[in-house]
Amino acid sequence: MQLIEKPRIEETRRYEMLVGGEWVEARSGATLESVNPYTGRVWATAPEAGEEDVDRAVRAARQAFDEGPWGRSTGTERARLMRRLAELIAENAGALAAVETTDNGKLLREMEGQMRALPEWYYYFAGAADKIQGDTIPSPNPDFFVYTRREPIGVVGAIVPWNSPLLLLSWKLAPALAAGCTFVAKTAEQTPASTLEFARLFEEAGFPPGVFNVVTGYGVPTGSALVRHPGVDKVAFTGSTETGKLVMKDAADHLAKVSLELGGKSPNIVFEDADLEAAANGVVAGIFAATGQTCMAGSRLLVQESLHDELVGRLAEKAAAIKLGDPLEMETEMGPIAFREQLEKVQGYVDAGRKEGAELAYGGKSPEDPALSDGFFIEPTILTNVENTMTVAREEIFGPVLSVIPVGSEEEVVRQANDTPYGLAAAVWTRDVRRAHRVAHALRAGTVWINAYRAVSFTAPFGGYKQSGIGRENGLESLDGYTQTKTVWVELSGKTRDPFTLG
Ligand code: NAD
Repeated sequence: MQLIEKPRIEETRRYEMLVGGEWVEARSGATLESVNPYTGRVWATAPEAGEEDVDRAVRAARQAFDEGPWGRSTGTERARLMRRLAELIAENAGALAAVETTDNGKLLREMEGQMRALPEWYYYFAGAADKIQGDTIPSPNPDFFVYTRREPIGVVGAIVPWNSPLLLLSWKLAPALAAGCTFVAKTAEQTPASTLEFARLFEEAGFPPGVFNVVTGYGVPTGSALVRHPGVDKVAFTGSTETGKLVMKDAADHLAKVSLELGGKSPNIVFEDADLEAAANGVVAGIFAATGQTCMAGSRLLVQESLHDELVGRLAEKAAAIKLGDPLEMETEMGPIAFREQLEKVQGYVDAGRKEGAELAYGGKSPEDPALSDGFFIEPTILTNVENTMTVAREEIFGPVLSVIPVGSEEEVVRQANDTPYGLAAAVWTRDVRRAHRVAHALRAGTVWINAYRAVSFTAPFGGYKQSGIGRENGLESLDGYTQTKTVWVELSGKTRDPFTLG
């Protein structure tokens, strides 16, 4: 099955949710609208799930886990289905990318890359599915044989944001399937479409009904109903730090396990011995790629003073050359912000930064090009003279706004880089290999790139220090978040034991 052939979607689509293997409307009949951020027009509708729809989806996942064939499946069987799903994603990568771009305005060239890479998550974790194994445990008492089993955690409730819907979903779904869990996904209200297209592929791959369910709706009530549902054993959340705290509190009421991938204010550190052109390019990748709408955005540029003016000059030239435009056009480099409120928020931060004393080295407003007037555009923006205490250096903006902070010694660099509530990512640009590792070790962040930015893969753990999150996604380590250990004790001697002693 091919979903769509052409990237520009003209018709208005009406989506249904997948619950227990059936395509359904919300019980209330309510729908939400998805707006194409380039045209500003509604291009799709999806059900607005209420609490009873979430309940139905969790029950379906519960039943598939507790009573269906999936709960008794072997890793080898699950891997076979995951490989089939990966093939279907590969066959439909272009169509899925077009849907994501229409929904969130991110560049087709980036989304095509993401969708072409997406099958790798399912292949990698399919390879792991039949290698999730326990240990035999040496017992101090020879009368016992002790072993562990790594069992699936159960029903996973996953909540994702709008910026990379299918990629961030797959970071959760692929290890969860490998482990043998069942799954209820709650899409972001702004971007329901690609997950529902993906759900058709999931069905076609031949998984039993109820293994993967999708509900579409707002954070409250839909997301919070999923988190609070007692039938959910684990909540896997990606979103803002503020919402992550609410999710953790709600999950605590029934002690669901949580993993949280949250926001960031990542430092991109340029030392004076750096390869200047490579560093400038890396700074652009860190903050202007994806229109800055990425959790790992390198939004604080910490640059040693001697290099400051030259680097800012080069960055302003690069910013001026960035081609803003239709995200579906392959030559476009920066698309719109995903939705109007977010554009207003980004503009508000630029204004707040200037009030607090930052200077505008480039950008700062919507572009004048009339061809872009319908979209939610803002120019790539560079603020200089920023101090690490200012709002623009402390809060996550989630837009193409770079705060440039001049710094002195290596110690000061590390101190300022770590002086943030966040700890998702960081980069170090230097030719000095000793300094590169020294600083990488001193930084309190879950990912550190040396002379690079924005590299991630299915093999490498990703997650936050401090208020950027709990747990890790990707890599074999992520399987720990979807399994739990059962210890089995087998009495070997057949002797009658003293009932009043332990061990
Ligand atoms: P958000 O927290 O507002 O929303 C994220 C998701 O949570 C959405 O699906 C939303 O509907 C849902 N939600 C909102 N309130 C909820 C509640 N009370 N209970 C349950 N669910 C609720 O985030 P956003 O603004 O849509 O996304 C951007 C944020 O996501 C940024 O902070 C960004 O850094 C973060 N993010 C993190 C990563 C990562 O891997 N660390 C990746 C991408 C984005």
